Amino acid sequence: MDIEDTLLMIPGPVKVAPRVLRALSKPMISHRSGDFSVIYSDCCKLLKQFFETKNEIVVMTGSGTVGMDAAVAGLIGHDDKIVTISNGKFGERFTEIGERYGKAIPVKFEWGTPFDLDRVEAALEGGAKAVAMVHNETSVGLTNPAKEVGKLARKHDAVFIVDGISSIGGNEFFTDEWGIDIAITGSQKALAVPPGLAVVSTSPRAEERFLPKSASYYSDLKAHLKSVRKSQPQTPFTPAVSLFFAMQESLHMAAEEGFALRRARTAKQAQSVRSAAKALGIELFPQVNEHTHYSNTVTAMKMPEGVTDDKLRGGMKKQGVIVSGGQDLIKGKIFRIGTMGMCSSSDILRTIQTLELILVKEGKIASCGAGVEAASTVLES
Ligand code: PLP
Repeated sequence: MDIEDTLLMIPGPVKVAPRVLRALSKPMISHRSGDFSVIYSDCCKLLKQFFETKNEIVVMTGSGTVGMDAAVAGLIGHDDKIVTISNGKFGERFTEIGERYGKAIPVKFEWGTPFDLDRVEAALEGGAKAVAMVHNETSVGLTNPAKEVGKLARKHDAVFIVDGISSIGGNEFFTDEWGIDIAITGSQKALAVPPGLAVVSTSPRAEERFLPKSASYYSDLKAHLKSVRKSQPQTPFTPAVSLFFAMQESLHMAAEEGFALRRARTAKQAQSVRSAAKALGIELFPQVNEHTHYSNTVTAMKMPEGVTDDKLRGGMKKQGVIVSGGQDLIKGKIFRIGTMGMCSSSDILRTIQTLELILVKEGKIASCGAGVEAASTVLES
């Protein structure tokens, strides 16, 4: 199938609007020019609305992980402790990064299950310089309780680091209200820009506690903050200039739509996928509770009994619809549909229709239609 006819419904990278793609092809400019500074400032101003923060924002060249790395490397020295909470792949990444720079205290939950906040608090009682968590655990389709962990971080005087990579701009995410000291996102998710930029917000409280020297040279947050605060904002090293063009354009599109309306649309779209799953007898993968919710940017569903990953995702791919599978220990057990950024109602309906065709072929449902009807009822509501 022609790539131009392919519908990308994975939880990042996501579809990029033609307007944003055109911005990528603008002629190159110097990253030390006033023109670049104007673009960088404009991006930071709009990103603050995306992050719901007054904190300083920097944009780093690299994928989302560079932002996670920058946060931990800047704060955690050899003998410092960082509590790392995980219930999926990306939470575990924080543990790996924490172990690289200092002493990680992992608080590990089964993938796709809610945090037990008492266990988080018990770990913090042992004393830690920071606590890190993933707000939207993309690997399992779960939105974790950042607000509640934020309260615990304050109570125990720990710097609060949150990976909002598949969350910010899609899910509700309130950096300042939730007391998030360092929040991180990546360009290829709800920002709807190609991969290659990480965005990091840093509170004054986190900055006061930075190590004198970050263990990472390239992702040294102090250096990035110093450069963005120049009278003409810059980055310490040559950035991916074309991606800044794209990000500025995409942020303007989000502002035109309205940041809150964008989030509300994203929420409704995820709800439509959940509703279609229910109508088709497909179980959602994660477990939720009063603080932990189904993600509004990625829906993780159990693979229907007797259907293989190859039949389901491979069959959908033949029809030009790309959805994600499970990662690591849940590979083949789940599949995931991403709905963020510029995802449209017709994208969702085409995806559900294609899923129905596969389910009919595999003898799981008698006929097509129930999923599309359920999804469109939500989308039109
Ligand atoms: N954290 C979360 C929640 C993610 O979804 C991802 C990527 O999917 C990452 C971290 C890693 O981001 P990247 O691959 O951009 O480095």
